Amino acid sequence: MQTIDLLRYLGNYVTQLSPTGYTLPAFPWFVYQTIGGAVSTGSHGSSLAWGSLSNQLLGVTMVLANGTLRTFTPETDPFLMRAVRVAVGQLGIITNLRFRLIKEQPVQRFLQSLSSSSFLKLMETAQQQYTSNQTMPSWLNETEFFWITQDSEFLMVSCTRGDVSSPETRHEVLASFNMPDNTTMYNTSWQLLQDPVLNCLDALPLNHSAHFGPDGLGALAQDYTGALLNTFINAPLPQLIISTYSNNSATLKAGQAVEAAEVLKPLVAELSFHEGSDGHERRRSLQKLHDQQLTVKNRRLFQTSAATARQRVMQADSDDGDASHSATENATGGYFEHDHGGITNASNGDPYAGLLSMDEAVALGNNWDIPPKKDALAYYAAPNMAEALISISRAGVLSIASNNTPEAHESYLYQPDALLDNIRTVRYDQYEVAVPVSTMGDCFKGLLDMVYEGDIDSLNETQKAKVKGFRTAPLIRVLGQEDGLLAYTGDVPRIFVNVEDYIFYNAGEQINTAFKAVMAHLRSSPACGNTGLEGAGGRLHWGKAGWPDAGCWHGDKEYPHTWCDFGCAKMYLDPTNKFADSAPDRWTWEGVDLASCCSMDKGFLREKAGCSCNVKHERNVSSCPPSPYYTNR
Ligand SMILES: Cc1cc2nc3c(=O)[nH]c(=O)nc-3n(C[C@H](O)[C@H](O)[C@H](O)COP(=O)(O)OP(=O)(O)OC[C@H]3O[C@@H](n4cnc5c(N)ncnc54)[C@H](O)[C@@H]3O)c2cc1C
Repeated sequence: MQTIDLLRYLGNYVTQLSPTGYTLPAFPWFVYQTIGGAVSTGSHGSSLAWGSLSNQLLGVTMVLANGTLRTFTPETDPFLMRAVRVAVGQLGIITNLRFRLIKEQPVQRFLQSLSSSSFLKLMETAQQQYTSNQTMPSWLNETEFFWITQDSEFLMVSCTRGDVSSPETRHEVLASFNMPDNTTMYNTSWQLLQDPVLNCLDALPLNHSAHFGPDGLGALAQDYTGALLNTFINAPLPQLIISTYSNNSATLKAGQAVEAAEVLKPLVAELSFHEGSDGHERRRSLQKLHDQQLTVKNRRLFQTSAATARQRVMQADSDDGDASHSATENATGGYFEHDHGGITNASNGDPYAGLLSMDEAVALGNNWDIPPKKDALAYYAAPNMAEALISISRAGVLSIASNNTPEAHESYLYQPDALLDNIRTVRYDQYEVAVPVSTMGDCFKGLLDMVYEGDIDSLNETQKAKVKGFRTAPLIRVLGQEDGLLAYTGDVPRIFVNVEDYIFYNAGEQINTAFKAVMAHLRSSPACGNTGLEGAGGRLHWGKAGWPDAGCWHGDKEYPHTWCDFGCAKMYLDPTNKFADSAPDRWTWEGVDLASCCSMDKGFLREKAGCSCNVKHERNVSSCPPSPYYTNR
């Protein structure tokens, strides 16, 4: 598979008029999803103004079920364009997408720590504003929150663009942007990496000893977070588990996780030692990690030109023997390719002869295979690893979201290279629920009361034990109203809660009950929405987990205002259901007379006599499992 990192490609794309490249105005975290998949599922970042990727589309070209190629735009097909924006693969195969791009610009990022009650107050204030005048507070636009469950803390990341209308704010953003000579991303990062490594180590924000400055350390801290993950979390622990269990497998059956937790205690203690407040010790141990992992060296190789990279590799070869080979291998696995088919050709026995320049590599893409998943990793499920892993997750947030004013495509949060392998290879599921802003304060109040039971700010041990369903910090983002028929925010703006389950797969398919209780609240509490199987709860992300058992997700109840409009589009574009997927129970309009009730340009004629969007379902609430309506997790 050949992939192009779209954001870096655009960031590197320079014209005479715009020497700073381009960017998408708002985007999701990209972890090798395809652009077709991300658009088809309404994937999003956090933006009230620009919305999801689907909302930013100017045009879509698809191969239709009848084999023809057709381009949709809002101008040529006002109704069908609303259908194809979020089509979940049901209407055709996307071959071309047209987006609005904007010029690169500085975006000021600001990170602050909130107690749960302060976070709740913000949510309640925003809810109140929306219900009184249907507007959202400007501080919420582009803001993301990370919920540090074990600490009852919310990390709030706000972004301010260099093109905001207020001249004072604009000036502040631009003044804080330390513009390098050439503002493509690579040079910006290269400059950052020139900082002497040791001067930066004290600023690595780990656990409670974290501090937020000085600015601009985000990229560097990522290397250490990555090293920490690879050294303490990913490398020795699985080996320990494997040697502990005689069957030579890291897969644990139910109940074994507790036993494993005991085995892991000394290592957790060691981890705490490295997170201690003694700056000297921390510096020493992290320097050791750095030496082992060579991550900074690799980043330097990634982020300079091919010629310089090659020179550095040669230099490293003569400087430090074996270590340089690992640097070379990593470099070739990153942006420089020399021995994978199709991109470059190595020649004359010189292994570095075919290295591409950064621009070429970004433009042509990289060869990439889907990495195999690891075996189950028992320590993810071990109860006493919860706190350590959330601390790692918190450190990761602090490193990617530190106060800074980089260019837009670097400032909005993305998954750093140092952490990608972990995300791709560890077994977990991502779930996301979209809650209307009109009740978001009530929804979070119910959630925090349920999870913590009692004082939501100072947790005792019993309360902490209750949040052990999480191994990473839940992520909270917002989207403004959109007009896609199956867009999450077709009715009102929504706030999105993304939660990840690391326990199910890593504990021998043991149900993560604390996690499931959170999903149940989000999916069926009247405070979290007024759509769904029981007329309450928030909407599920099309591209994530949490789908109810077959027959227990009813489109007409989840999307009561647009489900039959989408049915009309399906009838016109794919009348024989050629694009049926593995969940046919979802895509049903049984009992609705689409043939008589659809108009090619208006959709479902709900005013017409005999046309109501009441779909017949084989199962109903009484025959489905209780909220969150699935039994397989
Ligand atoms: C680590 C990680 C981080 C993520 N971060 C975010 C995030 O920040 N925000 C967010 O909203 N989501 C996020 N997601 C969810 C992700 O964007 C969606 O799951 C996306 O659909 C995955 O893309 P894919 O290419 O793997 O699609 P697939 O899983 O292959 O496909 C998803 C759907 O799109 C359809 N589809 C795919 N390609 C086409 C095409 N060319 N034409 C028509 N239909 C097509 C498929 O039929 C299917 O129904 C994340 C996912 C992961 C794993």
